[in-house]
Amino acid sequence: MPELFDNHNRRIDYLRVSITDRCNLRCIYCMPGKGAPHFKKHKDILTYEEIELFVSHAIKQGISKVRLTGGEPLVRRDVVDLIKSLSGLPELHDISLTTNGILLADFADVLWEAGLKRINISLDSLNPEKFKCITRIGNLSAVLNGIQKVFEIGFDPVKINAVVLKGINDDLSDFIKLTFNYPVHVRFIEYMPFSKQIGLERFVSCSEMMEKLNKFGKLEETDSPTGSGPARYMKFKGALGTLGFISPMSNHFCPECNRLRLTADGKLKTCLFSNDEIDVIGPMRNNHPEDAVKEVLRQALEKKPKDHSTARKNHFMRTMFQIGG
Ligand code: SAM
Ligand code: SF4
Repeated sequence: MPELFDNHNRRIDYLRVSITDRCNLRCIYCMPGKGAPHFKKHKDILTYEEIELFVSHAIKQGISKVRLTGGEPLVRRDVVDLIKSLSGLPELHDISLTTNGILLADFADVLWEAGLKRINISLDSLNPEKFKCITRIGNLSAVLNGIQKVFEIGFDPVKINAVVLKGINDDLSDFIKLTFNYPVHVRFIEYMPFSKQIGLERFVSCSEMMEKLNKFGKLEETDSPTGSGPARYMKFKGALGTLGFISPMSNHFCPECNRLRLTADGKLKTCLFSNDEIDVIGPMRNNHPEDAVKEVLRQALEKKPKDHSTARKNHFMRTMFQIGG
C-alpha cells in the first residue's frame, strides 16, 4: 500500500471532501446572518466525475479514508450515486458522511444501500427552541426521525456532533440521557471563531464541559468507537453510548493530524486554520487528471503547516460551510 507523509513526518491518509457549499440550515456559528450567503455557481464546483477521479487517484497515492461533507451534502442532487461509486472503489477502506440530518429520514435507506455504513449527524440541542435558535430555520423532529431511522437500519457507529455555545446549549444533560438510551457517540466540539456572528464570549472549552458533566456522575475514559480521530472519549457507567470531546481550540491535535480537505470549489486546504489553498479544479480541468492529483498532493504535503502557530486566528477567508467541516 502506498503511503503519504508530509514534511513533518505525519502520515496523511484521510480526505474530507465538501461536495457543496449550499445548505438547508443557517447555523449561527457557520453562516452569515443577514442576506443570502454567497454560494458558488454550479460551473465553479467540482463535478461528481471530478470528485471521483480525484479520490481514485488520491487512493493510489495513499489516501484510504474519505468523508463527504459540505455545506449540507444531502442537498446536492444525486449524492447517492456519488456514494455508490466511491464505496465501490476497492482500496477505499472507509467512507463516511457528515450531515445536519434534516433530510436523513428520507435518505437513510438509499445511503445504506449505496454502501454508507457509518454516519455523523450534527445536532447542537435536543430542545426544539434552542435548536431553532442555533440553526435559525431548523425543525428538530426531522433530525430526530433521521437518527431513529439510522439506528433501525443498523448504521454503526452513529456519531452526533454538538458545537457547545455558552448560554445557549451548554446545559449538556439531554445529551447524557441520550447516551443511556442509545449506543450513540455524542461528541462535544469547541466553537471555532470562523464566523463574525458569534464572539469568543460564547466559547466553552472541553475542560469546562467535562467539569460540568462530572457533576452528573463519574466519567470513565473509554476507547474511540473507530479506534482513531481527534476526540477523547468518556462514558458514564451503565450508558450504552459515549461522550467525546473535540478541542481544536484549547488542545490542538496538530501532531496527530492526518487530513486534507477538498473544498466544493476544488481547492485543497492543508489546515483548517490556515487561509492557504492549493488550486485543484484548474489543474484537473487543464492537465492530465492523474498528474494533476499527484502534483497537488505533493504541494499539499510540502505546505501542510506543523501546527496552528502561523494561522491568523481572527481573519479567516472562509467559514465552515465554504470549507467543509
Ligand atoms: N452541514 C453538515 C453538518 O452540519 O453536519 C456538514 C457540514 S458542517 C460545516 C460540518 C461540521 O462543522 C458540523 O458538525 C458543524 O457543527 C461544524 N461547524 C461549523 N462551524 C463551526 C464552528 N465555527 N466551530 C466549530 N464547529 C463548526
Ligand atoms: Fe449548514 Fe452544517 Fe453550516 Fe449548519 S453547520 S449551516 S448545517 S453547513
